[in-house]
Amino acid sequence: MNTFILALDAGTTSSRAILFDQKGNSIATAQHEFPQYFPKESWVEHDANEIWETQLKAIKEVIASANITPEQIHAIGITNQRETTVLWDRKTGKPVHRAIVWQDRRTAYLCDALRNKDKAEVFQQKTGLLLDAYFSGTKIQWILDQNPELRTAAEAGTLAFGTVDSWLIWNLTKGEQHVTDVTNASRTLLFNIHDLCWDDALLELLDVPKSLLPKVVASSEIIGNTHASILGREIPISGIAGDQQAALFGQMCIQPGDVKNTYGTGCFCIMNTGETAVTSKNKMLTTIGYQIDGKVTYALEGSIFIAGALVQWLRDQMGIIKTAPEIEALAATVSDNGGVTFIPALSGLGAPYWDPEATGSIMGITRGTEKGHIARAALEAIAMRTREIVIEMQKDAGVTFRSLKVDGGASNNNLLMQIQADLLQAEVIRPQTTETTALGAAFFAGLATGYWPSVASLSEIWQINKKFTPQTNNNTSQIIEHWEKRITKNLSQ
Ligand code: ADP
Repeated sequence: MNTFILALDAGTTSSRAILFDQKGNSIATAQHEFPQYFPKESWVEHDANEIWETQLKAIKEVIASANITPEQIHAIGITNQRETTVLWDRKTGKPVHRAIVWQDRRTAYLCDALRNKDKAEVFQQKTGLLLDAYFSGTKIQWILDQNPELRTAAEAGTLAFGTVDSWLIWNLTKGEQHVTDVTNASRTLLFNIHDLCWDDALLELLDVPKSLLPKVVASSEIIGNTHASILGREIPISGIAGDQQAALFGQMCIQPGDVKNTYGTGCFCIMNTGETAVTSKNKMLTTIGYQIDGKVTYALEGSIFIAGALVQWLRDQMGIIKTAPEIEALAATVSDNGGVTFIPALSGLGAPYWDPEATGSIMGITRGTEKGHIARAALEAIAMRTREIVIEMQKDAGVTFRSLKVDGGASNNNLLMQIQADLLQAEVIRPQTTETTALGAAFFAGLATGYWPSVASLSEIWQINKKFTPQTNNNTSQIIEHWEKRITKNLSQ
């Protein structure tokens, strides 16, 4: 009887379920979107029940569509949107508040207040994070501050907090397990990434009762079984990781210096830094990459807000392309950027500039500038921003960079990937399976149950779709020279 690993990819806009076979091929997928709620400007919420319902529907559908029985599911791995905060009643299992999504900015003032009390450093030292509304800690604090009844209940120990992984596992095990893994815990502002425990001093600073918190487990470990009533039989849950960390592992970035970059609306870049939790001098985040067999691997994370969004802007606001993939053919109508530089600061500039007031521009235009030059300069801008992040990460980590593993929608653009290889002077490697997030969750789950015997065996099944080898040409040095001169003109001061 063939068996499979079921990966649950609980994303920001949809719940997905994917079955992987022993070769790491995805054999069936099911997906259901759920509503996004925007009750006020900069607030973003989910209904945790809708997350669970869509996830369960996707699980049942993928089993049916692959025409398999629950007996053929060897184990379950979970990967999830990180930081999103769910609070529920331990007795009824019902959420007591809408989930506050990672994108939600409502708690920025709480972060400012902590910064004003000079607490940024202690948070960075212990959690590797910057004080930002993004992370779960201030979201929990906000919910309890808003509702005294909830605070009383939290103090009495009748409420549970969890990120989406914890919430799904609570439901899959019918309340038997209240756990999260180290990667998700490392995004809460409450978890000491060096001592690997919830930190009492940070809990006090954020006024969060400890009784709310889940038990923290490894990314690859059998944490329990699904309740028999869910799928007709108990199935081990044995892999958990936040989405970017799951992608790091799904890309087999398992050596210090290995980096993956996801080219979506923005870019998410993560570098494996091995056993060292590197403190960044450039406001990158230090985070836990994964924990296997008791051993923790750390990572550095840098994000770029605008990447594929630049392509969307050219499509939707400028109308020079009709679909995002068309940018490749348009950029290929010219052999170089014709002297044009696109500074993509459409919503400020992140690392290493950290200038939220910076604005974008298209520079170096002449009478001869064509649409193709602008398209090409836009692709170069995505690659240049990635280059800047990768270079800063290398400096922070002091490790040698070998190659860049890529995924995400825009990684399908061959020209962009070649430009990236040229600008990094490193190989850019695109895998066969672009479902790297789900694959990482499946890998964690299958390792813990012996479906795959070792990490080495995973490296063997991991397949490359295309390798982009760097080429040297004057063009590359000119792109960099123009960029460095011109970007300074776009900074707000
Ligand atoms: P997200 O998960 O952030 O929604 P995806 O991984 O689905 O992102 O990728 C979509 C993004 O990638 C969009 O911003 C789109 O403009 C861009 N994109 C998709 N295909 C291409 C392409 N072939 N070339 C360049 N950009 C692309």
